[in-house]
Amino acid sequence: MTETTFASFGFASTIMHALNAAGFTKPTPIQAGAIPAGLAGRDVLGIAQTGTGKTAAFALPILQQMAANKLHNRRFSTRALILAPTRELAVQIEQEFKKFGAGLGLHTVLIVGGVGRMGQVNRMSRGADIVVGTPGRICDLMNTRNLIIDQCQFFVLDEADRMLDLGFMPDIRKVVAALPARRQSALFSATMPAEISKLAEGLLHDPVRVSIAATSSTPVRIAQHVHFIDAGAKRQLLIDLLKDPSFTRAIVFTRTKRGADKVALQLNGAKIVAAPMHGNLGQNARQRALEAFKSGEVRVLVATDLAARGIDVTGVSHVVNYELPNEPESYVHRIGRTARNGAEGVAVAFCDATELPYLNQIEKLTGVKMHVASGTRPAHAQPAKKPQRHPDLVVRKVKPRRPQYAGGKARAA
Ligand code: ADP
Ligand code: MG
Repeated sequence: MTETTFASFGFASTIMHALNAAGFTKPTPIQAGAIPAGLAGRDVLGIAQTGTGKTAAFALPILQQMAANKLHNRRFSTRALILAPTRELAVQIEQEFKKFGAGLGLHTVLIVGGVGRMGQVNRMSRGADIVVGTPGRICDLMNTRNLIIDQCQFFVLDEADRMLDLGFMPDIRKVVAALPARRQSALFSATMPAEISKLAEGLLHDPVRVSIAATSSTPVRIAQHVHFIDAGAKRQLLIDLLKDPSFTRAIVFTRTKRGADKVALQLNGAKIVAAPMHGNLGQNARQRALEAFKSGEVRVLVATDLAARGIDVTGVSHVVNYELPNEPESYVHRIGRTARNGAEGVAVAFCDATELPYLNQIEKLTGVKMHVASGTRPAHAQPAKKPQRHPDLVVRKVKPRRPQYAGGKARAA
């Protein structure tokens, strides 16, 4: 097979220009699979973990088709709708559309919660080419007819499995029900639990299936270490580790928002520049923390899973699992924040006695036994506790349901 190039897709020159400027020289595997299908007007079912280049895989075919067909849109209507599970992801996706669509004269609108809706309504008033948003606020604007999608030609559901975890399914069904029958759709997900397969079946018409990595795989370039340690000793261990200058840019994960605040404060107390990043912070504060982290002004970001999902910051040297996640797939997503774009990365896990079942679940899912950096691996661990909903989710009032893992493999742990 000859190697696919961006030039072979026949993109408009402004798009090629933007690709060059962004340093995208050759398509990633998901792009090589999804872009030709998208350009041919086909629906796409993309299965790939984060960091594989999904955004451009769906954005470029939409932009190319819009470049060829400059219809103007009616008030409050949009030609394309992209749904993402978190505000940060929506922001990133919108930025990517703007980057690659520069020069096409398209009007993009970001519709996310946590910021005022008036500005969004105003931006929608002249109609949009591309709307990127999170499900809650999207439904909110649909309810007041400030967002009309019955003429939407392109629909993308990004990180569908995360949407499911976050309890967004009812909102998503509402959005899908309001879409016109004639449209091009794409669904991307790292994993395919039964509920997502069902959703995909209803949403996609004869899709081209592009599957990149096994749902459970962790990039091989990530060295995975574990410290067996008492809960009370984690704080000092983290401070000691961060004294190592090779931790140039680190994300520390906690399970709760309060935990993230606490750890960030403790680090600041030890003269380590750290900032918390979680759903209780306003959108502006989250964006500021992220920018400071990107610029290097803040060396350590202390985040919850919800806030950090999909954050794309290059050069993250270390991911520290200060607390192990109770959903093993979250671990895969967490450590995927490092070793992006082919770089190397290190993932460090702190495991106290209560977290052993989580560690076992994770190692079973990834098939990788972590290297023991300190402490000793207990010979026998208790059976896994029943997975609980993520503690940050309790405010969302979703119907409690058992988390589903791909193929149900992890549940047996
Ligand atoms: P995903 O949505 O799968 O997590 P992203 O679309 O966020 O992945 O892409 C991950 C990173 O890789 C981003 O920094 C993006 O700019 C970069 N990237 C994507 N495609 C390419 C490419 N073809 N060449 C170089 N870098 C790329
Ligand atoms: Mg993405």
